Amino acid sequence: MVKIGVLALQGAVSEHMNSIEACGAEALIVKSTDDLTLVDGLILPGGESTAMRRLIDRYDMLTPLIEFAKTEKPMFGTCAGLILLAKEIVGDDSAHIGALNATVERNSFGRQVDSFETQLEVKDIATDFPAVFIRAPHIVEVGSDVEILATHEDKIVMVRQGHLLGCSFHPELTIDYRITAYFTEMVKESLAKKATV
Ligand code: GLN
Repeated sequence: MVKIGVLALQGAVSEHMNSIEACGAEALIVKSTDDLTLVDGLILPGGESTAMRRLIDRYDMLTPLIEFAKTEKPMFGTCAGLILLAKEIVGDDSAHIGALNATVERNSFGRQVDSFETQLEVKDIATDFPAVFIRAPHIVEVGSDVEILATHEDKIVMVRQGHLLGCSFHPELTIDYRITAYFTEMVKESLAKKATV
């Protein structure tokens, strides 16, 4: 069984754990560098990216996360997790993990409508994915090696760059597991590739 970790320092952790298990993979809580060595893929959950970064620093996990992203093990950032993964953040001098070749803008769907749900067309995954956005970021710009998987009102909300996946919304908050299943496949494929090298 493939092992998928969820960075569990802050944010929507248990919902991701349930979704991973619903997809037939083993879900592991990742709270330390040691935990990170046990997983085949990692989900960075939604929550609050600045709070998460403070905890990442407190537990000395920034360099191990940057190193993890350099391996071919898949990583999936959702909402605040997408912000952690991105190479650039609008209005911020420095990034966090900085692996995903994209610029993100935080809280970019307006203050009046903090949260909303919409049906999204997601390339190769769904024509009607129920996407929950909560004080969500969007992707302003991507590098040429990044594939756009979904947009909402002309804003990029989901991308893939090889083994890195990122989305603005919370796929774990509904019982539609198609996006988690897609990530689980990415993890399985990366393991199969490793086995043939
Ligand atoms: N607004 C949060 C941030 O900037 C992200 C919100 C979320 O993860 N739901 O970190």
